[in-house]
Amino acid sequence: MARDSLDLGDIKIRILDDGIFITDAGNVFGEGTKAKIRGAMHAVLVETDDALVLIDAGFGPELPEALEGRYEIRRESTLIDGLEDAGHSVTDVTHVILSHLDPDHIGWALNPPDFPNATIYVQNAALEEAREMSEKDGRRLAVPAVERGVDEGWCELLDGDSEIMPGVRVEVRNGHSEGHQIVWIGSGNNLALFTADLAPAKIWLNPDLIAGVDTDPEAARKNRIEVLTEAEKRGASVILYHEPKDFLVKIQSSDEKGFEGVSIGD
Ligand SMILES: [Zn+2]
Repeated sequence: MARDSLDLGDIKIRILDDGIFITDAGNVFGEGTKAKIRGAMHAVLVETDDALVLIDAGFGPELPEALEGRYEIRRESTLIDGLEDAGHSVTDVTHVILSHLDPDHIGWALNPPDFPNATIYVQNAALEEAREMSEKDGRRLAVPAVERGVDEGWCELLDGDSEIMPGVRVEVRNGHSEGHQIVWIGSGNNLALFTADLAPAKIWLNPDLIAGVDTDPEAARKNRIEVLTEAEKRGASVILYHEPKDFLVKIQSSDEKGFEGVSIGD
């Protein structure tokens, strides 16, 4: 079994597993691609002395109705099982950071009381973009829950880069969506990076591979190069949300592919 935790000095990271989704590649690469692809959902749990932070939140208890027929979920256990195996309960979670509002990233977070004591952090720009999407788009489905969270005080909208707490910093890197945020965890030589859907799996470390679902492909490419360059320079351990097995890597620049992920998973 792949390694699923990291120690960063005072901060401990555990990588959770919300199963696998299977979908037509056309839903990811754009029209005209017939193959099926699989993606994992590796949410991240950050344990500090006085906080328990969840980064992204899988598909949730079940697939949203609007996505039935387009996505299939397979799992033996859920993100919540993983949280409990790590010795925590849903009431222990204090902060939830959502990289963006696609349904495969928010499922367990926006139906309180899933995490009754947590504040959920969403970028304002991500909410604005979701409001403009068509009714059929998965992102749009999140809007009522986020608005309710803001009204009720459990959801906080961010405007740009922000330090959620010492050692947990979000940085806006658009491309896959507006207001798409990545998360830097730790400091100095003890650093990890959650790239979310800016670079969600090993193949996506190549800046020239652009997803049909990226809202702004040019921004995605530019941000991927900048962020992965910094990750390599700082020696950060990178967590790849949708990579099924080899989800914990170090970044190495490569002449052929731009960047490669070198496994630190064993
Ligand atoms: Zn995704």
